[in-house]
Amino acid sequence: MLNLESKILNSLPLMEHFYTIQGEGFYQGSAAYFIRLGGCEVRCVWCDVKDSWDAEAYPKVEINEIVAKAQASGSRIVVVTGGEPTMHNLSILTNELKQAGLRTHIETSGAYPITGQWDWVCFSPKKFRPPQASVPEIADELKVVIFHKSDFAWAEDFAKQVKQGCELFLQPEWSKEKEILPLIIEYVKKYPQWKISLQVHKYMDIP
Ligand code: SF4
Repeated sequence: MLNLESKILNSLPLMEHFYTIQGEGFYQGSAAYFIRLGGCEVRCVWCDVKDSWDAEAYPKVEINEIVAKAQASGSRIVVVTGGEPTMHNLSILTNELKQAGLRTHIETSGAYPITGQWDWVCFSPKKFRPPQASVPEIADELKVVIFHKSDFAWAEDFAKQVKQGCELFLQPEWSKEKEILPLIIEYVKKYPQWKISLQVHKYMDIP
């Protein structure tokens, strides 16, 4: 029984994992190993990874196996994403990644309290499920997806909640990029504390 429990605690639903180039935000252009965990209850209408929503659809893979593959990739950075990765307890995963000498980065909507030890927290709030109040203050990067012009004011609400020095990014929602990007360009020229994040991995046609 004990063995079965520890096996459950030591494994996570792994949708996919791959070594690529981070396409978004502060680390855009950097080599990074991605661990995409299954499960998301945020349900953004424009989500581009809807296949990730059902955690049960993915095998529970032992954490030491996940970490060994990340380490073997040669990457210095590991990005844990989803889905919404904070649905899971990430303490063991981050402990093992750090013991392996890897940097731990997370991409989260902040829908749940964040567990684990993180070198970089990318907080990307979503209107479809409000973030936990504790998340903005630990964010190293605030990345707001702009889907509608009303989202600029929403982004500013979160910019007031993050710590000093947090990097601020506005990113056009991919399907509306042609319409939204010119608005973001003008906004960033007017409010230069913000920077533009583009999903450059999609231009490069890489995962
Ligand atoms: Fe998709 Fe992320 Fe929104 Fe979840 S939080 S629905 S994975 S965009």
